[in-house]
Amino acid sequence: MIKLAVIGDPIEHSLSPSVHGAVLDALGVSYTYQKVRVKKGGLDSFLRYVEDEKIDGFNLTMPHKTDIIPYLSYIDGEAERYGAVNTVEVRNGKLYGYNTDGRGFAEALRINGFSFVNKSAVIAGAGGAVRPIAMRLLSEGIIRLTILNRTPEKAAKLCRELETAEGVKIFYDTLEPNTLSRYTADCDLFINGTSLGMEGVNADFTDLYFLKKMKKDALVSDLIYRPARTKLLKYAEAEGLRALNGLSMLICQGILSDRIYTGIDFDMKKMFEAAKEKIAP
Ligand code: NAP
Repeated sequence: MIKLAVIGDPIEHSLSPSVHGAVLDALGVSYTYQKVRVKKGGLDSFLRYVEDEKIDGFNLTMPHKTDIIPYLSYIDGEAERYGAVNTVEVRNGKLYGYNTDGRGFAEALRINGFSFVNKSAVIAGAGGAVRPIAMRLLSEGIIRLTILNRTPEKAAKLCRELETAEGVKIFYDTLEPNTLSRYTADCDLFINGTSLGMEGVNADFTDLYFLKKMKKDALVSDLIYRPARTKLLKYAEAEGLRALNGLSMLICQGILSDRIYTGIDFDMKKMFEAAKEKIAP
């Protein structure tokens, strides 16, 4: 039996127990997976609980992804580059930190038929979710990356932190209808990494004209999974574009965490299908 948890604040609506439950059931592993509300500053007492209850691992969401780092005995290279940890494995009382967000996103797209090498991507947003994705896209072989953000200074800062190989081009600009049109016209991948269109958020894209100008084989990916089909994705589908919501990323980053917790090396695509079938049949 492995004992797992997810911590964050808020945590009530987390889909992590369903995602990990689906994966661990498919693997035939017996487990417990609990949601624990841990407020900012509450890591010391949560870590005492981890020790007392002999928790084997835990996932982290806002606001703990960076705050956990000083507590770790080991941090994986990808988590270190992102400056954020979403998976902690507890071994012999020591904490080992990983980040499966960037790779989870890349796996989700790959499973859905997208290949990255020599492609061009545009991301809207420059917050916590975009950072690992932007870094991962470059290591997957994207050769032109544009980051558009309401606050362009944040996009500029993120761009400065990206490591670029020779020949790779990086741009940033303000997120607005004319920049969306200009930068997406010949891109292969558009990602919405803002909260525009998210359930409970009273703001959405006002002008989606740019979708009409995109290449017909381009993929539109929204990190949002609630609602399952945002206005962006509905309009993209209406234009005949491929559209993917954030559930695939959520599932894939969860699968990669479970690979760390269980040590079982399983087929990513098969596991994705098993988990997806349970969560969104
Ligand atoms: P965050 O760090 O708070 O960043 C929010 C981003 O949205 C910023 O770029 C912000 O721009 C932009 N934004 C917010 N309101 C806006 C508005 N009215 N107009 C234009 N831009 C606006 O949040 P995050 O953690 O990166 O999350 C971003 C999205 O990704 C959320 O919808 C979240 O649900 C989703 N997400 C999905 C997954 C998954 O597994 N599928 C994982 C993590 C996050 P400024 O910089 O100008 O404020």
